Amino acid sequence: MTSNSFHLAVMPGEGIGVEVMEAAAVVLDAVEKRFDLSFRQEHVPGGAHHFKETGAILPNGGMERIGKADAILFGAMGWPDIRYPDGTEIAPQLDIRMHFGLYAGVRPIRAIPGTPPILTDERWKDIDLVIVRESTEGMFASRGKGEIIDDQEARDTQVITRKITEELTDFCCRLARRRRETRGTPGRVTIVDKANVFRSFAFMRKVFYEAAAKHPDIEARHHYIDAMALDLVRRPWDFDVLPTENLFGDILSDLGAGLIGGMGFAPSADIGGGHGMFQPSHGTAPDIAGKGIANPTAMILSAAMMLDWLGERHGSNAARDAARAIELGVDHAFGKLNLRSYDIGGRHGTRDIGSTIANLITSGKADPQ
Ligand code: ATP
Repeated sequence: MTSNSFHLAVMPGEGIGVEVMEAAAVVLDAVEKRFDLSFRQEHVPGGAHHFKETGAILPNGGMERIGKADAILFGAMGWPDIRYPDGTEIAPQLDIRMHFGLYAGVRPIRAIPGTPPILTDERWKDIDLVIVRESTEGMFASRGKGEIIDDQEARDTQVITRKITEELTDFCCRLARRRRETRGTPGRVTIVDKANVFRSFAFMRKVFYEAAAKHPDIEARHHYIDAMALDLVRRPWDFDVLPTENLFGDILSDLGAGLIGGMGFAPSADIGGGHGMFQPSHGTAPDIAGKGIANPTAMILSAAMMLDWLGERHGSNAARDAARAIELGVDHAFGKLNLRSYDIGGRHGTRDIGSTIANLITSGKADPQ
């Protein structure tokens, strides 16, 4: 059934999470004005400071509340000197991923027009790939479960399952197909692994090819993680959709963000069968928090990914158009209006960037054709 009215669980978190969320809120207001959309925003607190004050990372019943929303829009949570007694960081985003089975961590890496090129090759501007980090198992299956034996040896065990690998592959093939239809990308899915050394990765690759065979229109390939680290710097424009294990994806997506100007330009979505959470790839950035200089582009583009996902899920053309308008607004602001955030050497602060993109949307200058 088509719906243009959405209930959003909004979780700004702390540090720059709060600042970039404010900028995204201004853009969402613009989208509501320009398109036939309405949002009911339910703010849900949480994070390391919440833990310090209350002893819990989320309010009572918080997980149930966010689970009832159509989508979760998340800023950033975690703080270096507020930790669990065992020394590990407070990371509610990891708990939310596990709780709702958000197995697909979608991290688009796209060069924004007008931003300073990171590589000298002129094909830099053609970078448009998506790293899909499996987010519920792999090496992170050992989170909180690793063992230390007699202070002499430490062990963490990786888990790869057929079910999640099949779902991840299916998700990536559908994503590659949609990208081919909407952006003219090649429709190619390349699994990134270390199948030459570890049984778990050999199994993951076998299941990947079995599942990908159900999508004969999509080209399935493989690449070793070490070679991918090299090739993402040497020829990133050659790649399309890159599914990979959780820890590899964690590392590769920071490398990918580095290719396009840093964490401030890297949006993400965490998708499962029934829920979606949308957040910038960066953390709370305590070093720049409170200064108004964080780049909100990643957060704003994450909101666009949320609208695109809602549009697909609920058959809403208005949501799909709004998603595209946000992306066009970002490209217009950096490409034509010379917007320059602090992280790329400019002087435009968090609010400037949000309001510039919002104005482009309300004025119709970012309307999709
Ligand atoms: P986490 O472990 O929570 O993902 P992290 O340790 O990777 O966090 P971030 O908070 O992502 O750290 O910050 C890494 C660096 O990138 C910091 O120097 C920070 O200032 C910078 N940074 C992160 N996000 C932004 C942004 N939106 N705008 C500008 N700089 C940013």
